[in-house]
Amino acid sequence: MTVIVRFAPSPTGKLHIGNVRTALLNWLFARRQGGKFILRLDDTDRERSTDANAEAIRTDLTWLGLTWDDTFRQSDRSDRYDEIRKQLIADGRLYPCYETEDELGRKRKRQMARGLPPLYDRAARRLSADERAKLEASGLKPHWRFLLANTAPGEPNEIVPTPVRWHDLVRGDQAIDMSSMSDPVLVRADGTFLYTFTSVVDDVDTKITHIIRGEDHVTNAAVQAQIFEALGAKVPDMAHFSLLVGREGEALSKRLGSLSVEGFRDAGLEAMAVNSLAALIGTSDAVHPVMTLQELAATFDLAKLSRSPSRFDTTELEGLNAKLLHMMPYADVADRLPGLGVTGGEALWLAVRGNLARLSDAATWQRVVAGPITPVIENAEFCAAAALLPPEPWSAETWGAWTNAVKASSGAKGRALFHPLRLALTGLENGPELKALLPLIGRTQALARLGGGG
Ligand code: GLU
Repeated sequence: MTVIVRFAPSPTGKLHIGNVRTALLNWLFARRQGGKFILRLDDTDRERSTDANAEAIRTDLTWLGLTWDDTFRQSDRSDRYDEIRKQLIADGRLYPCYETEDELGRKRKRQMARGLPPLYDRAARRLSADERAKLEASGLKPHWRFLLANTAPGEPNEIVPTPVRWHDLVRGDQAIDMSSMSDPVLVRADGTFLYTFTSVVDDVDTKITHIIRGEDHVTNAAVQAQIFEALGAKVPDMAHFSLLVGREGEALSKRLGSLSVEGFRDAGLEAMAVNSLAALIGTSDAVHPVMTLQELAATFDLAKLSRSPSRFDTTELEGLNAKLLHMMPYADVADRLPGLGVTGGEALWLAVRGNLARLSDAATWQRVVAGPITPVIENAEFCAAAALLPPEPWSAETWGAWTNAVKASSGAKGRALFHPLRLALTGLENGPELKALLPLIGRTQALARLGGGG
């Protein structure tokens, strides 16, 4: 059996860290199992879905490296949904209802006042053909509800406890009682379809083997399991992972807008820092920087996902980004550095990567190396050190040899020796090891800087 999974965002907004996690867990699962990853655009909400959002989703996934094997959008499949709608009507699983929102609201209020759960009472199922014809003649268009399999045998309108069971690959054995649910609307009065329905039709048609998504879909899962069955299809394996929460355990949903992939990219964060965090957060593996998606896929296992909510913290992402840069091989960044004005090649990269929080910080060190800078001369006499600079060629040994000579002639040591040299050579309090920077700065510039010139 070939594993086939899908990532099914609605193009009603930008991808955020929560979506990335869903996309990535599916992608890694597919890669690990040698399966296929489908990008499906759930754009049944025509008012809120836009092409620009769909394009932005593709851009974000591409930036993250989450390539798809196939893609399609639900708005292209209305004919197919219509075919299945007819099939469900013929099978008696989809029935027309004529209540307005107001009427339904009043019904719910009455039920609650009587201490009853506000469930749809299936009144529309008791309408005669004549009554339906009259309602339609008055101009009312029906919406369509799916008849849940939660009734007593022989009593199609009496709702009795009925658990839908599945073994969830993250949550373990599940039993969701369908007697506390109203028959869901699958087709609106204007003929448009709801996600609950289109998702199942697509999952059947694209032969999805595993549905991997957030636990906010667990109730949907129970309803959808019944729709799969009504269509004579096998329910795919399902995995519902816990949602991300903020540092203090607060719901992230309100802040998700500010945690967009585009925002991370614009802030200069590395895609693999985002991927490392999204893949490892809430797992039994420690969150650590991982260089490639292939490495992440190699150790991926749904069984490692925890059932409790995972805390997302932007500072953790920043920290991960820095750690990732500190170990990044030159080859992985070589083509991006020139665009940032960093032309010092591998030697510069290896000298400075340990001091970067963002890749763009490398430009600061490029300037320090190539000049001009404003040297800070803390101790003018100390600059006699200039006279002791050895002739070129310089290597990683030059710094040690030179500072030993300065120490011997000035008597300065420790911070009193090194700090004024750093300030003069770089103009900055802190930075990469001077052992690595000095040969890059070179003798001519070092001499000028020690004398107070750039
Ligand atoms: N469009 C749905 C969402 O973004 C997809 C859920 C699913 O994976 O079935 O929540």
